[in-house]
Amino acid sequence: MIDNLIDNPLKKSWVGQCCIILPHINPDGDAIGSTMAMYLYLKKQTDTVWLILDDPVPKNLMFLNPMITTLDEFLDLQINVDAIFCMDCSDRLRFGERDILLEQSGIVINIDHHKTNTLFGDINIVDAQASSTGEVLFELLTNAHCNIDDDMAKCIYAAISTDTGSFKYSNTSARTMYIAGELIKKGIDLEQINIDLYQNNPIDGYYAFQAAINNARWEDNKKLVITAVTLDDLEKYNMLEMEAEGVVEFFRDFESVEMVILLKEKEKNIFKVSLRSKCLYDVSTLALQIGGGGHMRAAGGVIEGTMDECVAKLLSMYQQLFVR
Ligand code: 5GP
Ligand code: MN
Repeated sequence: MIDNLIDNPLKKSWVGQCCIILPHINPDGDAIGSTMAMYLYLKKQTDTVWLILDDPVPKNLMFLNPMITTLDEFLDLQINVDAIFCMDCSDRLRFGERDILLEQSGIVINIDHHKTNTLFGDINIVDAQASSTGEVLFELLTNAHCNIDDDMAKCIYAAISTDTGSFKYSNTSARTMYIAGELIKKGIDLEQINIDLYQNNPIDGYYAFQAAINNARWEDNKKLVITAVTLDDLEKYNMLEMEAEGVVEFFRDFESVEMVILLKEKEKNIFKVSLRSKCLYDVSTLALQIGGGGHMRAAGGVIEGTMDECVAKLLSMYQQLFVR
């Protein structure tokens, strides 16, 4: 549970105020789910609320109906902001270009659960024990006696479900399960939410698995898998987009594997790194070494260089951190 609920920003009225909401770049289910729940909540109090994001929303989250305004569209409005709600963002780098919004007027409210959070807000509600930002938001709404309607419940449920690997990861606590139960009581359609989130993968995802299996290197007595999906793979397999959802978890689930490093080439020689561990290693330490962040079991960052250079760098960091 969160300690500083005296500062609960949801106890305050936001009627008529101008609020903006920022999820982190390359948003995941927790970022979109918690941001949309916050959007729906604030929208009941004020018409002047914007969810600002420049990145595409993953297709499996479109059913949450994200109402998005780009940074340029928002700046064109020339509006004075009263409050900036930052959701699931561990540090200011995670805003990308939208970071300039934090320099302007408005109180910065930082709602998150990353233990690597840099507490950049005027108000920081960061609970590293919480499974997800969705869970933190549920606590804030409940503490402030706010009504959670079924649309909000759906968004918060999606946030929690995606960040806990459908309630499988060690961040799933009794409290997480209790909250999920409370959300189910609101009447959300669990079967449909699970189909939308997990059983509607684009076919390109199949080819991403094929590429990653081909590229996989099994290291350290098969404790580590390091693999990549490159721009060449996109071409080779005729993939339209990088759809590597589930690839990193696929490798983690083999018996000997303790850690997986997946590199996804976003632009020539620029790789998004996804890190996962099973139970021995804290992958956030490796993420910090490449300027990223995250959690013990799921973390990430960005690395530049040719694929071979990046793999060599990451292998050497792995050696130093985890092999004694
Ligand atoms: P994914 O592998 O799904 O992209 O990311 C897993 C988790 O790692 C995310 O939920 C986020 O907490 C963290 N993460 C991923 N990429 C970055 C990054 O570039 N910077 C930071 N600070 N955290 C990241
Ligand atoms: Mn999260």
